[in-house]
Amino acid sequence: MKLLDGKAVSARLMEEMAREVETLSVKPCLAVVLVGDDPASRVYVNNKKKGCEKLGIRSLEYTMPKETTQAQLLELIDALNEDKNVHGILVQLPLPKHLDEKTVIRAIRPEKDVDAFHPVNVGKIMIGDFDFLPCTPAGIMELIAESGTDLTGKECVVIGRSNIVGKPMAMLLLHKNATVTICHSKTRDLKEVTRRADVLVAAVGIPNFVTADMVRPGAVVIDVGINRLDDGKLTGDVDFEAVSPIASAITPVPGGVGPMTIAMLMRNTITAAKKQNQ
Ligand code: NDP
Repeated sequence: MKLLDGKAVSARLMEEMAREVETLSVKPCLAVVLVGDDPASRVYVNNKKKGCEKLGIRSLEYTMPKETTQAQLLELIDALNEDKNVHGILVQLPLPKHLDEKTVIRAIRPEKDVDAFHPVNVGKIMIGDFDFLPCTPAGIMELIAESGTDLTGKECVVIGRSNIVGKPMAMLLLHKNATVTICHSKTRDLKEVTRRADVLVAAVGIPNFVTADMVRPGAVVIDVGINRLDDGKLTGDVDFEAVSPIASAITPVPGGVGPMTIAMLMRNTITAAKKQNQ
């Protein structure tokens, strides 16, 4: 079994990107907007800022109180859209309940939408003609490449159909000529489907959801889940102990998909800066 070490792959990509940033005439700049005081969101924002620091990317943090109104948030996004020195805008999700995520995402100019959540960018991904790839699925594609798997003709099963992970993940696998099945909470006989997978991606959000009997021996298993247990420990969606002996390659949690997501955000920010200064 090969451990797909996202931390190591991410570190390698970050070094390459740091060298690229040095050669750019304009220093890329990422604006990160955090509304409220969700502790997990705080951690994610800090990690994104640390990623920027490592690469010599400028990061601007805008922390807004949880009572922020939709109008106030849209006003900030507008200002960042207009600011020529800001190349990427990221609004950390989830937003407090009274704010409308869809409207907020649509307010970000597509060329600055480094999360690739704007409908224009989602559409571009669908037709295979894109500027940015969504960070988590893009990071997973790098890890699958690292496993040495040629996806052409392979059976790939994605558990989860969210707009940020499951759906774009399926699309990227399809672009690489895999045969893709997307499963969700209404899927009948999930195990029967997942056992067909040469590559199984779990993005469910339930600890140890994927058990050994759901995995085909020799499969590549990608665990997207980040679940915090009562004792504070982080765990994925895959029962790592039981599944790792039968998988040909598997990602750990933590240290698998998570660090890759940050690296891909950095890549998108560099791409945005380059495109806006052509
Ligand atoms: P969502 O909650 O948006 O989606 C979860 C998906 O799992 C849904 O499509 C849901 O189906 C499906 N699901 C739930 N229960 C079952 C079940 N019993 N059988 C089959 N499918 C089921 O989550 P996200 O996609 O946003 O995130 C998934 C996980 O990945 C979370 O743990 C999250 O923290 C993590 N994550 C990690 C990232 C990283 O960088 N490593 C980045 C983003 C997310 P239905 O649609 O029918 O409800």
